[in-house]
Amino acid sequence: MATIVDHEKKKASLFESTQNIIKEALGYLGGDTATYELMKEPLRLLTVRIPVRMDDGTVQVFTGYRAQHNDAVGPTKGGIRFHPDVTEEEVKALSIWMSIKSGITGLPYGGGKGGIQCDPRALSMRELERLSRGYVRAISQLVGPTKDIPAPDVFTNSQIMAWMMDEYSEIREFESPGFITGKPLVLGGSAGRESSTAKGVTIVLREAAKRAGISVEGARVIVQGFGNAGSFLSKFLYEAGAKVVGISDAYGALYDPQGLDIPYLLDRRDSFGTVTNLFKNSISNQELLVQECDILVPAAIENQITEQNAPDIKAKILVEAANGPTTAKATEILTERGVLIVPDVLASAGGVVVSYFEWVQNNQGYYWSEEEVNEKLEKILTQSFQQVYQTSIDKKVNMRLSAYIVGLKRMVEAVKIRGWV
Ligand code: GLU
Repeated sequence: MATIVDHEKKKASLFESTQNIIKEALGYLGGDTATYELMKEPLRLLTVRIPVRMDDGTVQVFTGYRAQHNDAVGPTKGGIRFHPDVTEEEVKALSIWMSIKSGITGLPYGGGKGGIQCDPRALSMRELERLSRGYVRAISQLVGPTKDIPAPDVFTNSQIMAWMMDEYSEIREFESPGFITGKPLVLGGSAGRESSTAKGVTIVLREAAKRAGISVEGARVIVQGFGNAGSFLSKFLYEAGAKVVGISDAYGALYDPQGLDIPYLLDRRDSFGTVTNLFKNSISNQELLVQECDILVPAAIENQITEQNAPDIKAKILVEAANGPTTAKATEILTERGVLIVPDVLASAGGVVVSYFEWVQNNQGYYWSEEEVNEKLEKILTQSFQQVYQTSIDKKVNMRLSAYIVGLKRMVEAVKIRGWV
């Protein structure tokens, strides 16, 4: 059984490996020591305690965070996760990754991230609402449509965004749809936002498959995680004629070399993405990752592919739809074995790209069709992939380092030209 200390250690090491890769990438960009000192940590980190009146009348106090990595390019932007294992180190690392995503895709943002240590599966809707509103009250000084713009992340959704937007609007005494993205359509959400992370993964997966000479039609794909990204992705891949041979949720995994019946599984999943408990022949998540396939897509949580299982991964392409699924050591092993890695900061950027579209639409009060949104997303991610791929060839570095070089470039220029370093 993993203990809390194990989780904290793993997350600390994710943060450290992020700092290491920033240092390495800055080496290629001519960044000096001061630039590294500035970028290795978020500029701001707020820890809050949120008292929530539970349905039984007792009060529970939750811990939350909001980290803002760097706002030299523009306001910070990034999701809020609700999860029992949220730590300060994790939120800090995630805020840095958001900077890289925005840099790669050319959005006028720096990175931000928030989280609350809680188990939303154990809370009622009313408790969830009070917690969401309490969090916004606690961080309201730090955030805003031109300062830091939150969004959904693990176990948060458009309903939670709606409560948060409403609370912020109450505090500011005017409608503030641009304060948060991932809202329901009726409150100024964007067409296509809900499935945008998975759309983005589908685009970069297709580009990677082209480079590796694999046809998506008929390709055997394993998708770990059946939450927002994993479920939409399985659907899109199934519709594109890929053979989705494996899927999983927090409790187990299903694998069938003949391909799974994705429409049926989507129909049976609950709102947290749980479905494997309905089957007797499920295997573990760890077993799933090493099954035969052409393309592996971790779309769940961090630290899934490690030096222990990396030698046994069968996939030729690894597309990281989750944030931080692969450790630094595992990246080395897989790169050596010739696996094409599409790193998280590129593969999962579709969500924030469409969040940016949502924010632009809120600012101009003029809304686009889903076709328009998808067309723009397609263009940005195809270009982003090509840029990261080409940089990895030109500089003879792996795709992860290449993504950091591309993603940090503009921020390095911005901090210099502002006179910060
Ligand atoms: N939580 C998503 C991410 O990690 C989306 C962030 C956003 O839309 O701002 O990229």
